[in-house]
Amino acid sequence: MKPPPFHYAAPTSVAEAVALLGEHADDDARALAGGQSLVPLMNFRLAQPGYLIDLRRIEELTRIRTDGDVLSIGAMVRLSRAEHSPEVALGAPLLAEALGYVAHPPIRNSGTVGGSIAHADPAAELPAVALALDAELVVVGPQGARTIAAADFFVGPFTTAIGAGEILTEVRFPRRDGGQAFVEFARTHGNFALVGVASVIETDGDAVTRAAIALSGVAPVPVRAAAAERALTGTVPDDASIRAAVDAAVAGLSPSGDAHGSTETRTDIARSYLRRGIELALTRAQDRR
Ligand SMILES: Cc1cc2nc3c(=O)[nH]c(=O)nc-3n(C[C@H](O)[C@H](O)[C@H](O)COP(=O)(O)OP(=O)(O)OC[C@H]3O[C@@H](n4cnc5c(N)ncnc54)[C@H](O)[C@@H]3O)c2cc1C
Repeated sequence: MKPPPFHYAAPTSVAEAVALLGEHADDDARALAGGQSLVPLMNFRLAQPGYLIDLRRIEELTRIRTDGDVLSIGAMVRLSRAEHSPEVALGAPLLAEALGYVAHPPIRNSGTVGGSIAHADPAAELPAVALALDAELVVVGPQGARTIAAADFFVGPFTTAIGAGEILTEVRFPRRDGGQAFVEFARTHGNFALVGVASVIETDGDAVTRAAIALSGVAPVPVRAAAAERALTGTVPDDASIRAAVDAAVAGLSPSGDAHGSTETRTDIARSYLRRGIELALTRAQDRR
């Protein structure tokens, strides 16, 4: 399959990219990152942008840096580079672990952190990670830069709070102590997950002081398992309290079924993988002490 004809530009700065998006808004101009989602959509004629603004030559979008307690990843950092970055391993181990589940190495060599988050597939790993880590998404448009909390960023399947004429430039992950774990169930390794669970659990002694748990694949957007977070916080978790926390989270879920898994299947998997993710994060939190 071939895409319909389109115009193409490869700006070298964010300002130039934003200007081009504005100038060609009538042509449904779209940012092109790694092309691992957009190009197949174009080939199947499910997306027909008349103008592609390729972000690959914008060096300022390829930086990984740590400022105090915040790890900042430029939108055009490739998934494979983030996966193997010592700064990511230190600043956001949850992200490093989740990246190993995203597609296959050749796709991770082209796909980008910003592209995955901007694409906002409900089954994708990185949106759930951004939610669990309370990431901040920096977008730049004609009015300048603004920062959007992950909790406000994912507004529907494949839909984000990025406005017309804006591009995502950077993802900021605040450093979290404690244990972090990403687990998922997929039909085969590298496929999109039926259910993914991102857990961050902080402890003081044996008691949980803070829990942040997000799921992918169970709703049109990644969701926080707020009932499980509340149930765990302040407890010294044991088998019964973890089970109660998982039950509380699952009671709030009603994933829609599709060809890959019915509502019941996804709910059962969520129950099992929530437990697995919580236990792994707790073990890691205890190992860090
Ligand atoms: C076979 C296959 C298997 C896959 N499996 C998985 C998987 O298991 N898990 C998973 O999460 N993903 C999976 N993917 C998707 C892959 O991870 C993509 O790389 C990712 O979703 C999109 O990243 P990209 O950089 O290629 O973005 P692109 O495809 O270039 O862009 C995707 C969308 O985001 C927009 N966009 C990109 N960057 C920006 C920006 N900076 N600002 C504003 N908008 C922007 C584009 O306009 C487009 O609408 C798979 C892809 C393939 C082909």
